[in-house]
Parts: sequence; C-alpha cells; structure tokens
Amino acid sequence: MAETAKIISPNKKVLIPDMEAGCSLADDCPEDEFKKFINKYPDHYVISYINCTAGVKAQSDLICTSSNAVDLVKKIPKEIPIIFSPDKNLGRWVEKQSGRKMKLWPGSCVVHETFSEEAVLKLKLMHPDSEIIAHPECTEVLLQYSDFIGSTSKLLKYIQESSMKEFIVLTEPGIIYQMKLKQPHKQFFEVPGVDGCSCNACPHMRLNTIQKVIKSLETLEPEVILDKDTIDKAIKPINLMLELSK
Ligand code: SF4
Repeated sequence: MAETAKIISPNKKVLIPDMEAGCSLADDCPEDEFKKFINKYPDHYVISYINCTAGVKAQSDLICTSSNAVDLVKKIPKEIPIIFSPDKNLGRWVEKQSGRKMKLWPGSCVVHETFSEEAVLKLKLMHPDSEIIAHPECTEVLLQYSDFIGSTSKLLKYIQESSMKEFIVLTEPGIIYQMKLKQPHKQFFEVPGVDGCSCNACPHMRLNTIQKVIKSLETLEPEVILDKDTIDKAIKPINLMLELSK
C-alpha cells in the first residue's frame, strides 16, 4: 500500500515506518515469476488485487480491491479470459460471485489462511445467536460457514446495519477495535489461528508501531522509492480501476 501511495503521488515524499512491513500476498507473487506466468497466457486480461507489489501492478491491465473485485470482473467481456492475482482465495470467491472462471495465481494471505475451522465452530456453539462474518481472503472452507462475506469496509457497514448483537469475525483482528467504536453495545469475537496461536494478527502490519511512525516523521525516513518506468506503468491499471468504479 505504501508503494501504491507513491504510484498515485509520485511527486510527494512517501514514508513507511518500517521497510520490513510488507505483505504475504505481495511476497507470494515475485514480479519475475509473475512475468513468466502471464507470458504463458498472452491472450489473457490481467487483474491484480491491490495487495501486490508495484512490479506486479505494472504488469497488470486492471487493479481491484476486495470491495470492487466482483463488479470489475463482471465488466470484462465474457469472451476475454482472465488471470487473477495474487490471492487464490479471493480469486476463487470472485469466480463464484461473478460466474467467471479465471486463471488464479496461487498466493494467499498468511493471516486469513491461519484461522482455525475448529475454533470457528466452537465459538459458534458457544454463541449460537452470533453471525459469522468473513473477509473473502479467507479459505473456502471458512467462507462456507459465513453468514456475510465482504471487504473490510463492507464488514464494518454490515455490523452497523445488522440487528444481530454478536459476531464472530474472520479477518485481521485490528478491525475489531473499529467495530467496537462503532457499535459498543455489540460483541465481537476474534478467531484464533490453528493451535490457538495468535498468528491471526498480521505480522507485517504490526511492525508499524507508533514509535516508528514518530521516528519516521522526525527523520523523514525510510522513504518509498520507485523508478519512473514502474510508476508510469503501474498507474494505468489503478486509474482504470477508478474509472470503471465510478
Ligand atoms: S493481513 Fe497482512 S499479509 Fe494479509 S493481506 Fe493484509 S497486509 Fe497482507
């Protein structure tokens, strides 16, 4: 996302408090490997989820978010075959929602892959009046239990509009703080990872601590640097997404 900020604001200084704060989806899709993959399917239209590197964006025809992915895929003429990257779980869910079969890059989010199916079922047994709500980056097996599936913004909207009082939340647990702020009288249960570990918290996002943010603002480092060619190529599919989402 820091790279995306630089792509859309190339003349501004973009800082990231910790250069190691990446994303497993981006790590799962190295741009050289991706190039070989898309070269095998030259007639395919390439749609990439925004959680990918600038190098992958630069090789894509269209960028999407989890909010608009289904609508954008539906806008591509049916006769045009599609490659979807880098999240296979989101891609599989988009396939079901849109009715379009796509070639999926086999990446995944370390957080959304980690939730324990057993823990979800136990929580549901303990709270039978709760609803299970999930981000589409979750695995198919977890999505099948979900009463509502949507992007972070859609999940936040849903818990405000739903008449239910308890929710089992299948996404990065940082969102639960915002949910409690918006609906303090409702209860939100986070789901542990397999073996009860707390690896459902994104290890990448957690690297950006408030102390590092302060230091970054004081020193104006580390700065996100991208070459002009990558920026010029990567901005096109982002602008197209914005245009098609109007
Ligand atoms: S939760 Fe972390 S690893 Fe998963 S998509 Fe978000 S930033 Fe990437």
